[in-house]
Amino acid sequence: MTSSGVRVRFAPSPTGYLHIGGARTALFNWLFARRLGGEFVLRIEDTDGERSRPELIDVIFQALEWLGLDWDGTPVHQSERGHLYTAAIEKLLADGSAYWCACSPDDVKARAEARGGTPGYDSHCRTLELGPGEGRVVRFAVPDDGTTAFDDLIRGHVSFENANLEDFVVQRSNGSPMFHLANAVDDADQGITHVIRGEDLINVTPKVLLLREALGAPGELIFAHLPLIVNEKRQKLSKRRDDVSVGDYIERGYLPEAMVNYLATLGWGPSDGIEIRPLAEIVAMFDIADVGKSGAFFDVKKLQHFNGEYIRALSVPQFVSRSTRWLFDDAPWDPERFDIATFEVLAPLVQERVKLLAEVPDYVDFVFTAEPVIDDESWQKVMVKNPDLAIAVLDHALAGFETCDWTIAGLDAALFSYAEINGVAKGKVQAPVRVAVTGRTVGPPLFESLEVLGRDETIRRLAAARSRV
Ligand code: GLU
Ligand code: ZN
Repeated sequence: MTSSGVRVRFAPSPTGYLHIGGARTALFNWLFARRLGGEFVLRIEDTDGERSRPELIDVIFQALEWLGLDWDGTPVHQSERGHLYTAAIEKLLADGSAYWCACSPDDVKARAEARGGTPGYDSHCRTLELGPGEGRVVRFAVPDDGTTAFDDLIRGHVSFENANLEDFVVQRSNGSPMFHLANAVDDADQGITHVIRGEDLINVTPKVLLLREALGAPGELIFAHLPLIVNEKRQKLSKRRDDVSVGDYIERGYLPEAMVNYLATLGWGPSDGIEIRPLAEIVAMFDIADVGKSGAFFDVKKLQHFNGEYIRALSVPQFVSRSTRWLFDDAPWDPERFDIATFEVLAPLVQERVKLLAEVPDYVDFVFTAEPVIDDESWQKVMVKNPDLAIAVLDHALAGFETCDWTIAGLDAALFSYAEINGVAKGKVQAPVRVAVTGRTVGPPLFESLEVLGRDETIRRLAAARSRV
């Protein structure tokens, strides 16, 4: 235990990916712990046997490592702690806080329908003094009256009428503990002081509090329920509709420092309104009490903007090394043709323009592929819509580029003399040359690109495009 005595945990249930919402929960726990000099521990909630497969769990570790959210001590796995949950359930049964129930889900449902009113379990077996048996579950006997309440650091006073809480299951008929039982036992056993988690779990909190009381958990557990993360339609982010997996963002070339900075703004904001800032400053400013209650919009455009800013803040060598993955794995060129020195010449120009590292190959592929990869839309727009201008410009460039100085100034003078003589905008004059040579209408600055590509190859591509138009 640290001097502050604060200990928080991130407690994901493995699903094969780390959800953006989970990453935000992990980050807010981490910020809370680091701000207060407390501990941040990791607990894998894999009581459901299916969830304890290593490949489902590894992605969580990998995503947290990528984000730079370091945890204290060795992660705990619920799948290895079954004895603690069994002991807790036995204790609850022994002192009458829990009881065996023989009702099937269909029985429960049929009785609820017959009686009308609120669905749910009717405490049918509470006084029957049943013992264990095939198909039986263990239920917690919720007090009939009173309230179960807590002061949430974000939501304020939250109170549940016990009369509205059914006698919930703590052990399934297959003998496995329910999630809330294991969760309550572990928070007590691990000496957790604060639970920071998504608002979708707020209904679990009264169960946890009732269990803690019945189990005689020492100390108080303080809760903070984070606002939901929603999409632009203000719907809860879903795996089906939205890109929710941190892994997808890694693949697209988001920088972890941009992602962490952006996630910190989902529900929280610094008092001075400056959102893009180093993590150390966020740690220093973070106060869980400043987190808002309303849904936080996961704005991918804003995340991209953050990412672009972080890319531009890198040094050129850092940008080159961060881009490496996209230059070697699945790059659109034959690896033999790739040359890092050539890439380094273009790198500062690319760094100014991309929002995602996965876009980097598109900006430089024209140098490393034998033929430019022609983008149909660009070709249509520039060559097909206005063929007369395209032909005139390409002929002018072909003639001028034969003899001009192969420098930015030389190329500029040779091509733009067409613009001056004919009173055509420079952008219109550049476009056919750019599409002929790079295949696209957007890319790094044209003359720098041609300079790197070289005179012979530039002329060959211009001539090929000229005959195609
Ligand atoms: N294991 C739960 C989940 O992933 C979270 C539990 C908690 O944070 O208390 O949904
Ligand atoms: Zn029953």
